[in-house]
Amino acid sequence: MIDGLLLVLFVVAVGIGWWLGRRYQHQLQQPGVADEHYYRGLNYLLNHQTDAALDLFIDSLEVNNHNLETHLALGNAFRRKGEVDKAIHIHQNLLNRPGLTHQQLAQAQLELAHDFVKAGLLDRAEQLLLEGAGFSLNKQAWGTLLLDIYQRDKDWQKALHIGQRYQLQSIPNLAPRLSHYACELAQEALDQEDFAKAQEFLAQANELNSKNTRCAMIQATMAIQQENFELGGQFLRQLVQQDPSLIPYVLPALSQCYAVTSQHQDWHDWLQTCMTKNPSTSVMLALAEILRQQSDADAMAYVTKELDQRPSVRGFNYLIDLHMHKASDQTRQSLQSLKGLTLALEQSKPSFQCKQCGYASNSMQWQCPTCHQWDTTKPVYGLRGE
Ligand SMILES: [Zn+2]
Repeated sequence: MIDGLLLVLFVVAVGIGWWLGRRYQHQLQQPGVADEHYYRGLNYLLNHQTDAALDLFIDSLEVNNHNLETHLALGNAFRRKGEVDKAIHIHQNLLNRPGLTHQQLAQAQLELAHDFVKAGLLDRAEQLLLEGAGFSLNKQAWGTLLLDIYQRDKDWQKALHIGQRYQLQSIPNLAPRLSHYACELAQEALDQEDFAKAQEFLAQANELNSKNTRCAMIQATMAIQQENFELGGQFLRQLVQQDPSLIPYVLPALSQCYAVTSQHQDWHDWLQTCMTKNPSTSVMLALAEILRQQSDADAMAYVTKELDQRPSVRGFNYLIDLHMHKASDQTRQSLQSLKGLTLALEQSKPSFQCKQCGYASNSMQWQCPTCHQWDTTKPVYGLRGE
C-alpha cells in the first residue's frame, strides 16, 4: 500500500519535473505536443491509470546525465516489487536512447540483465552480459550475475569457469561454491560411469575446498558402485569425521559396507563410539537391531533406557513395534492405535532441513532449492527427528 502510494507520488514528481522542463522549452520553441502529453498523463493519473501514465512519461522523458540515475532507480524499484515487465520497459527505453556514455550503457545493460534473470529469461540475460559493454568496466558485478545465471541453469562447467577466471571477491564463500560445482560435474561423470573423469573433478573440488564433505560422499558412492566396499566404508567414516551431524545420512550406506565385508564386530564398535560422541536416533536404532538378533527383550531394555535420556518419536515407534510382537490381541489393538498417532507425528516432520531458510525435505539437498545456499541442509535432530 505504502509502496503503491510512493510509486504514484514518484510518477507525479517525475511528471511535474518533465512538464516544467518541457514548459520551459515550450516557451522557447513551439507549443502543442508537450502540453498534450502532459494533459494526457495527468488525465491517466486522475483516472487511476498509473501504468498508462507511467508509460507516457517514460516514453516522453529525455535521458540525460541528470536524470539517468532516476530512471535506473525507478526500474529497480519495479523489479523489487516484482513488476518485471515495467522494469524491462524502463531499462530497454534507456538503452534505445542515443548519447549514452559507455559507462551509462553498461549500467543500463546490467540492470536489464537483472530484470531478465528475475523474469526467468536466463538466455536473454546471458546473451546481454556476454555481448554487452560492461565486463571490462565492472567485472565483479557482471561476473557475479553471470555466475548466478549458470548456477540457476545448472551449467556447472560454465559456472566453474567464470568463478575461477574472474576471482569474484564480491561473492561470499566463492571457493566452497566452486567446489560444489566441481562435485556436480563429478556426479554427472559418475552417473555415466566415467570414473576417471569423476576423479578429475573430485580432485578439483578438493583443491577448491578440502573441507567439502560431499567429496568423500561421491568417493564412497564411486567405490561402492565398483564394489569396493572396504574403500567405500573408509570414505564414509572420513565424511563423519568431517561433519558428525551427517551420521544419519551416511548410515544406510555405511551399514551396507560393514555387512558386505562381514565386519560385524567393527560395525557394532563403530556404532557404540558414535552413540557416545554423537548420539542420534538412527544410531540407537541400528544398535537396537543388533541386540534384537539376540533377543527382543535386550533390544526393548536398551531402547527404553536410551529413550529415557533422549526421547524421540522414531524411538517410541520402534519400541511400540517391539511390544506389539509380544502383546495379547487386545493389547496389540491398543498399541496399533497408539502407533497410528506416533507414526503420523513422525511423518509430519521431514528428516532434513535448511538452516538458512528452514526449507524441509525427506532427502539430502547439497544446495537448498529455496534459498540456493550450499551445505545448509542437515538432518533434523530433537524429539521429532534424530
Ligand atoms: Zn534454504
